[in-house]
Amino acid sequence: MIVTKFGGSSVSSAEQFRKVKDIVLSNPERCVVVTSAAGKRVSTDNKITDLLYLIHAHIQYSASFKDLFSSVSNRFLKIQEELGLKTNIAVDLEALELELTKSCPIDYLVSRGEYLTGILLADYLGYKFIDAKDVILFNYDGTINFEKTEMLVKDALEVHKRIVIPGFYGAYLDGTIHVMKRGGSDITGSILARVINASAYENWTDVSGILMADPHIINNPKQIEKITYSELRELSYMGANVLHEDAIYPVKDSNIPILILNTNDTSFKGTMICETIEKDNSINMITGIAGKKDFTVITLYRHNASNEVGLLRKALEVFEKYKVNVEHVPSGIDNFSIVVSTKIIEKVLYDIVSELGQVVQSENIKVTNNLSLIAIVGRNMAKHVGVSGELFKTLGDNSINIRMIAQGSDEINIIVGVENEDFEKAIQVLYKTFA
Ligand code: ASP
Repeated sequence: MIVTKFGGSSVSSAEQFRKVKDIVLSNPERCVVVTSAAGKRVSTDNKITDLLYLIHAHIQYSASFKDLFSSVSNRFLKIQEELGLKTNIAVDLEALELELTKSCPIDYLVSRGEYLTGILLADYLGYKFIDAKDVILFNYDGTINFEKTEMLVKDALEVHKRIVIPGFYGAYLDGTIHVMKRGGSDITGSILARVINASAYENWTDVSGILMADPHIINNPKQIEKITYSELRELSYMGANVLHEDAIYPVKDSNIPILILNTNDTSFKGTMICETIEKDNSINMITGIAGKKDFTVITLYRHNASNEVGLLRKALEVFEKYKVNVEHVPSGIDNFSIVVSTKIIEKVLYDIVSELGQVVQSENIKVTNNLSLIAIVGRNMAKHVGVSGELFKTLGDNSINIRMIAQGSDEINIIVGVENEDFEKAIQVLYKTFA
């Protein structure tokens, strides 16, 4: 059995629904279909989920949401009409509008995008609609209750054989609707793949798989054919976003492959993500390059810093107190630096610096901004001599100054810090050398 998840743009219009139907019905293994809420039809369009969040904001300020609600309704009514579906979605829309006049919890409201899209899709495919609140169950701490979810999903499949489940939400054990993070339908698909022990988790979107680098920086980058979960994790953390990063964990342990496919181009084989990939000598040294701008480096100077037990802990505790995530801690003998996201530290920077001064009794604290981090990621780099040499040479030859270097001990990534202004150029020259 395959779990097949469609992203918002894949279900944004009647025309997209037709493509989805062709895909689903072309393989009888596709028994469990997960859908996002209808997304953008063109880049200037609105995602249904965004409109629902906006409606909620209007309710908060007692402003009229009539026009917004009409935009939402019209999208669903149009799909129903154009596909000639028998489901009377107007009834569900009226019920929702009524709910909005009462005190309607935000999670319930924003989950309606997936709910309504799911109802229409199930009708169109001839599959059974299963409300996610009845099968995807959360513990009260927000974690998934896999045991109960597995039991309920298997029961539903046993009876109905072919089902559509809306993504992005589920319910607490008392039945209250709870939504996941934005983009959470990816996670729903992954949970379902795990509980039914699917042979594959297909994630259909509007891009042709995962690219080796950001197409805004590299013209027409190569597609990645195969990537491990760990490599993807490194790339997504550094800004490559195709799949929700939390969607990896549910399937990782069972080693269920995730396929990233393109609803608008079914001839494309897709990118396969799995736990291990057999060695393939033709494969590049590098799987992908990603990066993020705007990091701040706080450097603390202290005589004999490297010999003082507990000094680093004391410094890190200050960041913990202010809930600032530490990205890297490069160190020298009499100094160490702490690299954090500028956006996150901005508001508490002066408090942190002043507290660090007291706690660490640093002789000198220096704050520098405008650092970009770039990761080159590749399973084939491990135990391969010369990759970092090549990397530094490439940047050096192009007059790009390296401000920081980090390599994980599993050797699947090398991270370099460069000036923000060198960010794009660094990615371009690295791509040219390694891709
Ligand atoms: N509709 C939700 C969002 O826009 C969840 C999803 O599409 O995965 O974030």
